[in-house]
Amino acid sequence: MVDTGKGDLSLVALTKSYGSFTAVQPLDLTIEAGSFFALLGPSGCGKTTTLRMIAGLDAPTSGRIRIGEKDITDTKAYQRNVNTVFQSYALFPHMTVLDNVMFGLKRRGDKDAKRKAQETLELVQLAQVGDKRPTQLSGGMQQRVALARALVNRPDVLLLDEPLGALDLKLRRQMQIELKRIQQEVGLTFIHVTHDQEEAMTMADRIAVMNAGRLEQLGDPATLYEMPRSTFVANFLGQSNLLRAQVLGGPSDDGVVRVRSHDTDLEVSREHLPDGVTDVWLGVRPEKLRLGEAGGPNRLRGIVRDVSFTGVATQYIVEMPWRQELTVVQQNDGTARATLGETVTVSWAATHGFALDASQDAEAGAELVDEHG
Ligand code: ATP
Repeated sequence: MVDTGKGDLSLVALTKSYGSFTAVQPLDLTIEAGSFFALLGPSGCGKTTTLRMIAGLDAPTSGRIRIGEKDITDTKAYQRNVNTVFQSYALFPHMTVLDNVMFGLKRRGDKDAKRKAQETLELVQLAQVGDKRPTQLSGGMQQRVALARALVNRPDVLLLDEPLGALDLKLRRQMQIELKRIQQEVGLTFIHVTHDQEEAMTMADRIAVMNAGRLEQLGDPATLYEMPRSTFVANFLGQSNLLRAQVLGGPSDDGVVRVRSHDTDLEVSREHLPDGVTDVWLGVRPEKLRLGEAGGPNRLRGIVRDVSFTGVATQYIVEMPWRQELTVVQQNDGTARATLGETVTVSWAATHGFALDASQDAEAGAELVDEHG
């Protein structure tokens, strides 16, 4: 096999300690070549440290890093075909946009530098501003210049360290779509570090959720959202209602397991229940709960304590007889709504719930969610 250095990026038991503090616990991860991968987690979970080890900016305490068959653990940052885009654009202010993008190529004596730089500016839709200076451009445009500069020599892996963090919300949403389009067009491996769950879910093919230096769960956005394997992921990725429940027996013929929560029998799909647990948190996402009985066989009654109209949807807070408050989100699609103080039934299907081992903290991750995102 020809060792071109191209291929999947593999992290093998990659670890980083600072004295007695371990910032990244032994991490095993394979990132498929050409995929858009997100490292997601709250501040301090170790995602930037992981990125810096891949870039060659920090040396791992132990473990290996490979791209395809090539082990790059001991190579210097500049020897790796890996580029990084940071939140700060770090563009040369005295140079034109085109000169900024072709700077690295020219320094290496690439005769095609100008053509490649122009093509890359077209890719990021900045072909018209090549002769402007970075300071004449908006923040979003400067970020795209920085992206063009990182992409121009077609790295094996492009690392993005919270690159959209300095942009306002609307621009950030536009750039998320734009980044995804660019990644699909160039087909390079992108690894995006973010603490914003929505950003990770919008862009990434696969997400690694990190928590306190450990990989918490790995998967595509829909699987992580529909089938979180821990209360941390259930709370950090979107919102969850978690009901304390006991498993009543084995699965029935139709693949459903009965559980009992606060004197009410409920059902959850067998594949949404971990093996061997009897005490569980039964989780349901707010938008999976229905007001009324149409949602499914799982039914609870409570009193509406808050109604918040948010445009496309209305959020209800429904208090259960045991004082727990459930969040229900209903699309504003013209169906009947509930009013404050009304007693309502909330219902959901067995396939819409997920069960988690009750030995975990039900609040894990909830306080870390970045609401402004
Ligand atoms: P953020 O989004 O805030 O950057 P992060 O998930 O990227 O968070 P890291 O920057 O990787 O987190 O940091 C992980 C942990 O390692 C933190 O607790 C941090 O304080 C610690 N850490 C990072 N660099 C050093 C260092 N040079 N010396 C000691 N501790 C460090």
